[in-house]
Amino acid sequence: MTFFVATKNEGKKKELLRILMPLGIDVISEKDLKEPLDDVVEDGTSFEENALIKARAACIATGLPSVADDSGLCVDALGGAPGIYTARFAGEPSDSAKNNQKLLRVMSGVPMEKRTARFVSAVACVFPDGREFTVRGECEGKIALELSGTKGFGYDPLFISELGCFGEISDEEKDSISHRGAALKLLRTKLSEEYLKG
Ligand code: IMP
Repeated sequence: MTFFVATKNEGKKKELLRILMPLGIDVISEKDLKEPLDDVVEDGTSFEENALIKARAACIATGLPSVADDSGLCVDALGGAPGIYTARFAGEPSDSAKNNQKLLRVMSGVPMEKRTARFVSAVACVFPDGREFTVRGECEGKIALELSGTKGFGYDPLFISELGCFGEISDEEKDSISHRGAALKLLRTKLSEEYLKG
């Protein structure tokens, strides 16, 4: 079975592939289509709503079961911001280096014990017959005082998880505790128990 993954982010696509391949699911993304998809307006008010908006549009456009994730970083000292605005925290177009610099700037002076944060990932799955569901994963951590490591993407060099900074740990370590890893494991369980039988 082939699923479409509605993401332009190769980092996310790779994480999804690693997790869905054991179910015998092939994954294609926008790069594999002849025509690019129209941009969708992500005007939901939650991670789940935005993930569903993307997955529904992709399913209609491709005719394939489609998976989309909406994720972000919620920082306690910022009242949960940037939240659903994580990608455009430092303005548009989205730029990880600028986002990280802004996060360090707005968090300057906040002591380590108050730098608690979590990554959130909502994953939506939409089937051509209209069935759909969402799952959510979270990963607790702290915002570092400076960037470290070259692995991962986005805010990884600033996120200190229980296994170390996401910018420094291996893919396998990140999958084992990450928000997307957690959401995708729930997706995998739900698909294999309820949707891929027979
Ligand atoms: P989305 O593509 O709209 O879901 O944007 C999510 C934002 O959160 C982007 O700025 C990503 O870089 C960031 N983000 C989501 N997941 C991760 C992660 O695992 N590591 C680092 N940054 C992430």
